[in-house]
Amino acid sequence: MARINENYLKLPGNYLFSAIGKKVREYKEAHPEADIIRLGIGDVTQPIAPSVIRALHERVEEMGQAATFKGYAPDLGYALLRNAISVKDYRERGCDISPEEIFVSDGAKCDCGNIQEIFGLENRIAVCDPVYPVYVDSNVMAGRTGAFDEETGKYKDVIYMPCLRENGFLPEVSAFEKEVPDLIYLCFPNNPTGAVMKKDRLQTFVDYARAHDSVILFDAAYEAYISEEDVPHSIFECEGAKECAIEFRSFSKTAGFTGLRLGFTVIPRELSTGGQKLWPLWARRHGTKYNGAPYIIQKAGEAVYTEEGQREVRQQIAYYMENARIILQGLKEAGFEVSGGVNAPYIWLKTPEGMGSWDFFDRLLTGIHVVGTPGVGFGPGGEGFFRLTAFGSREDTIRAVKRFKDL
Ligand code: PLP
Repeated sequence: MARINENYLKLPGNYLFSAIGKKVREYKEAHPEADIIRLGIGDVTQPIAPSVIRALHERVEEMGQAATFKGYAPDLGYALLRNAISVKDYRERGCDISPEEIFVSDGAKCDCGNIQEIFGLENRIAVCDPVYPVYVDSNVMAGRTGAFDEETGKYKDVIYMPCLRENGFLPEVSAFEKEVPDLIYLCFPNNPTGAVMKKDRLQTFVDYARAHDSVILFDAAYEAYISEEDVPHSIFECEGAKECAIEFRSFSKTAGFTGLRLGFTVIPRELSTGGQKLWPLWARRHGTKYNGAPYIIQKAGEAVYTEEGQREVRQQIAYYMENARIILQGLKEAGFEVSGGVNAPYIWLKTPEGMGSWDFFDRLLTGIHVVGTPGVGFGPGGEGFFRLTAFGSREDTIRAVKRFKDL
């Protein structure tokens, strides 16, 4: 008899976005005339930039000619892309990250989910609450956590770092007073709260990790949305981070690649824990279980780093961030308490007094036909909050904000 991995049974069945989808579908069936605006799911809506499309066309042609056809990509990615990342994303920001420390992949979700494989099951993980669910669920699947407690909405044997209104939705190392975490997941700019960590605050985590031989897993998927000067784009801007941190990046929100799929992970050569270097372990895993992001997509990624590509993707980001500004301002005017939306495409909104996240979801769906994401779907710390995203069209964003004002 084949036995299943019973850890999967610890995961509550109802995936957040399926639950939302079901509610919206049922409502639409009962009210076919309802004009529903979706400001919920975090997918982009702007088309791929023209210079990237040109690069894609050219590379597709190459694949049809014997002389230029490409098969398997190099394990860790094509050199030109890794060089561009090293220079543009790191060296120009003063971070000494070499091309060989960059592992190209088909996106940050897989890398964030898979990275835990190179660590032992006895490691204790720390996550923000609320949190992007992939970090927790991938560790549940691996068996690194205890059971899910329905009452608290938390897994046993996980250290939750509360990200509350009182602390600006930012975690603090004081969360580790009782227990030292081995793996610390951080995501800034944050999904779902839109909060960002200033460099000195992030440095406290780096210092903690170095002092305790912990490893920080830093998800910088929204780095391109940072608009304020003193917000670090990379954890490697912090002193000593190369000794204790891994960073994940994605082209999804930076350049609209959610459907093309491209990302990368940075593992510094000197990073080690318990005396063991991590770079060779991830290289081994990558070589064994992964066969590379497609050639044409890596070339499209290179086009993002050209002057024209940069100009075009910055325009897209500015478009989304103008949506964020419209939502922030409009909701403030409508009397809501809102945060985020300045260095991130997410707006985090306090639900009206006495109303839970799901109650508010229902109220918006039935009252003004706007769909967002209940904060509690990201962890118990998200109860009483609600996430809106800036990824809609301008027209929908403006219409949705007007409806909030009418609510
Ligand atoms: N990390 C965070 C925090 C995200 O919000 C997302 C996507 O929503 C991802 C990673 C996934 O990125 P990718 O599309 O590269 O897999």
